[in-house]
Amino acid sequence: MRNASLLTLGGLLTGKTGRVMANSLTSSMMAQPNASKVIGLQIYSLGRELYQDVAGGLKKVAQMGYSTIELAGYNSNGKINNVEMADFKKMSDDAGLKILSSHLNPPVSEYTASNKQQISDFWKKAADDHAKIGIKYLVQPGQPSTRSTEEVSYVSEIFNESGKVVKAAGLSFGYHNHDLEFARVVPGGKEMIIGRRFPRTGGIEIIYDALVRQTDPSLVLFELDVYWIIMGQQDPVEYMRKYADRIKLLHIKDKAVLGESGMMNFEQIFKQAYANGITDYFVELENVPSGTQFEGVKGSIDYLLKANFVK
Ligand code: MG
Repeated sequence: MRNASLLTLGGLLTGKTGRVMANSLTSSMMAQPNASKVIGLQIYSLGRELYQDVAGGLKKVAQMGYSTIELAGYNSNGKINNVEMADFKKMSDDAGLKILSSHLNPPVSEYTASNKQQISDFWKKAADDHAKIGIKYLVQPGQPSTRSTEEVSYVSEIFNESGKVVKAAGLSFGYHNHDLEFARVVPGGKEMIIGRRFPRTGGIEIIYDALVRQTDPSLVLFELDVYWIIMGQQDPVEYMRKYADRIKLLHIKDKAVLGESGMMNFEQIFKQAYANGITDYFVELENVPSGTQFEGVKGSIDYLLKANFVK
């Protein structure tokens, strides 16, 4: 697969941009001391740029060295940003990318007894749609309303239900965090409080801990976003150690392009990931400060390909 990608790039070398391509090809070959690295990409990282030419964009992603992708943009019309799922699968296959996972949210964020069925129906259809393209994980990245201990318990109950529905279709259900899952709540509380400003009352718990504690390990896994947990003022490595049996996937993310901010200790994160036996992870980028998203996505994998702590 990688050889095929290089051949494709080699074909482009004869074009007018030969010198530029040759330079980037040389640097990307030098950046790949270990061609066995299996690195995934959350396609959200490419933003709207991907949809200018999905087939071509996915090929570029594979040529950069990515092997797997995680989808984003599933709609209840059963498409990925208006691309039929079967077409997305075909274009990914053609590019040599394996679709492992997909990010999607139920249509409501406040979970109540009256919309419980609506949420369950959403996961049923989503799981059936995704089962057809043979992927492994359905991951919810949106935080439902969790302002009190009671709301967190109800969300956990719904997650267990969602996990059951997804599992019945042969996939695994997961939850992805941002920063506010590391806020604290109290029984009867009205707000989520992050950092040290928690109330001096009993029953304080970090939302993430309560979600892990109250969900069934056979139904709900966790995809830890290692950047957002830091924004939530907690340590990704500590959480990976604490929940080694629950955190099965990672989002490898920095403030923008991987390795540039200096705020992420990726070496320790990868060390712990290997200790935990985590094999599936996805690079994720928000908007890059300069250049295109494709360039940011390339800069990020180059960082991982060069890093001797990434196997
Ligand atoms: Mg993420």
